[in-house]
Amino acid sequence: MKLIRFGSPQKEKPGVIAPDGTWRDVTAFTADYTEEFFGTDGAAELASWFAKQNGSLPEVPKMTRLGSPIARPNKIVCIGLNFVDHAKESGMELPKEPILFFKATSAIVGPNDGLTLPRGGEKTDWEVELAVVIGKTARYVSEADALNHVAGYCLHNDYSERAFQLERSGQWVKGKSCDTFAPLGPFLATPDEIRDVNALRMWLRVNGVTKQESTSGNLAFKIPHLVSYISQFMTLQPGDVISTGTPSGVGLGFKPPQFLKAGDIVELGIEGLGEQKQTVKAAQ
Ligand code: ZN
Repeated sequence: MKLIRFGSPQKEKPGVIAPDGTWRDVTAFTADYTEEFFGTDGAAELASWFAKQNGSLPEVPKMTRLGSPIARPNKIVCIGLNFVDHAKESGMELPKEPILFFKATSAIVGPNDGLTLPRGGEKTDWEVELAVVIGKTARYVSEADALNHVAGYCLHNDYSERAFQLERSGQWVKGKSCDTFAPLGPFLATPDEIRDVNALRMWLRVNGVTKQESTSGNLAFKIPHLVSYISQFMTLQPGDVISTGTPSGVGLGFKPPQFLKAGDIVELGIEGLGEQKQTVKAAQ
């Protein structure tokens, strides 16, 4: 199943992309895709309910704005330097254990809402990433059991202001959390929609020029390991997002570096998880 949220910002309603490609309103089943929804096996129950509706649910026009496919989660946990080529272009070693950092959940926007540069930011950069959404509370889970705690997957652009992240001291969170820095969607795909989550092509273009091209097969630490690993340090709650890291081709990696400016167009996608398009706006 593919879950969407549609409508104006902060007032999104839940929907489903039906097998025939139409968008359907499922507010008759649930008010939103929240922690409670995922934590009560809502996705599986929605799937069986949806199958019985025979296409009778209200259709959502395709020009409707899409929001993030999940309601604001309790946390976004990001993985740093999880692709060999990206570690190399960043001038860093591939870490011995996953690097974890947080991204503020207030950074979340819809997939095509656009990026607003932060005040004082001069080194804003892109990062196409595969995001994992937690379905069942995960605390000290084993690698073998980890995928039973996953609700699905979605596309994420882990926007990063490199000056805030790397030159302003302290933790990376500063450079990762500005408003509009976490476009999610267009949809959440439940695991049954994805043939092999370890073999998904991922790409990103700026102004039509390809910058990043890789596959999720190049993740140094794979998804079951990441879920298990993080759950040794904190409880992963239903709806929480794990962003699994970016391949090479970020702006920081070019010589000289390339950063975003107002008017740029960023397009990205992951096979099976749809596409996003962001227009870059000047700081406000
Ligand atoms: Zn990242």
